[in-house]
Amino acid sequence: MRAFNFYTPKTLAEALELLAQYKGSATVAAGGTDIVIELKERRRNTDCVISINKIKELRYCEVAAGQVRIGALTTFSDLENNPYIKDKVKGLHSCCAHVGSPQIRNLGTIGGNVVNCSVAGDSPTTLMALDASVVLRSKAGKREMKLTDFYADRKKTRIAGDELLTEIYFDAPAKGVATATMKLGKRKALVIVVVGLSILVEKDDSDSITRAQVVVGGVSPKPARLPKVEEYLIGKPVSKNTFAPCAGMLSDIVGSMIPTRASMPYKREGVKGVSDKTFGRILVDFGLGEGGC
Ligand SMILES: Cc1cc2nc3c(=O)[nH]c(=O)nc-3n(C[C@H](O)[C@H](O)[C@H](O)COP(=O)(O)OP(=O)(O)OC[C@H]3O[C@@H](n4cnc5c(N)ncnc54)[C@H](O)[C@@H]3O)c2cc1C
Repeated sequence: MRAFNFYTPKTLAEALELLAQYKGSATVAAGGTDIVIELKERRRNTDCVISINKIKELRYCEVAAGQVRIGALTTFSDLENNPYIKDKVKGLHSCCAHVGSPQIRNLGTIGGNVVNCSVAGDSPTTLMALDASVVLRSKAGKREMKLTDFYADRKKTRIAGDELLTEIYFDAPAKGVATATMKLGKRKALVIVVVGLSILVEKDDSDSITRAQVVVGGVSPKPARLPKVEEYLIGKPVSKNTFAPCAGMLSDIVGSMIPTRASMPYKREGVKGVSDKTFGRILVDFGLGEGGC
């Protein structure tokens, strides 16, 4: 690792001032679980590292005015242990509880995961199913955008060099909304996503589906919303019979997204089980089933 200046600002204002001084050439570190490896392996060279993990004002999860607002420095453990997330946003809870190991969840932040934008990253798929937005701040001001727009391409976001991601927010799930997330990996611990699926379903009082947000991860440069599956679900009753055909639809979509990849046959088959289990969790969240469809 080559020598660099190292700063540990205690406030957001101090951090934004430093980022402005270095005119976009500084490297931000939050939990450090991705960036320290990149620096050590010299995949990234820098003259300056700004470690933001002492900025307490960026570590929170609050529900206000119908929205869930999560500070960028909130760790996966914070979210895993948050009673509101556990009870009301089961898709996000399950996502956070299955990131890496306890050590990684204690250090890794949701902001770092979103900005790192790995194809195998867990939270972008789930946050996209929640239709989340991000808040970016610099010394010059504040920008907000939908997470779908934040991702430009493979490993590329629309964050500027002098900006920090400060917050992620989404609508608090209302009555009649259920969420679920699952990932398929090659082992039981420290699972890296092979295929990830995250779903939000909203139903009315007669159990008819009024809204569906279905996002697949691990098969394209950024997680992909699946309008074909979403359109199929709208207007249908929440039931095992409605959800069962989604496995075949997802399998066909995944096959068409990565037609020439060696992993295609495995992912195409694997996503069927992921679909059954994830929709099964939606049924459980609605109190209409015991899992699987
Ligand atoms: C053993 C191991 C297992 C892992 N398992 C998983 C897993 O199961 N699922 C998964 O998704 N990831 C996994 N990861 C990757 C990593 O832990 C996550 O991506 C984590 O959320 C990164 O957060 P961090 O705070 O450590 O980010 P850092 O490493 O500090 O930063 C990551 C990137 O984001 C930038 N950044 C961070 N915060 C901000 C901010 N607020 N504003 C602007 N830029 C910012 C940094 O400059 C850097 O480019 C694993 C990593 C390891 C080492």
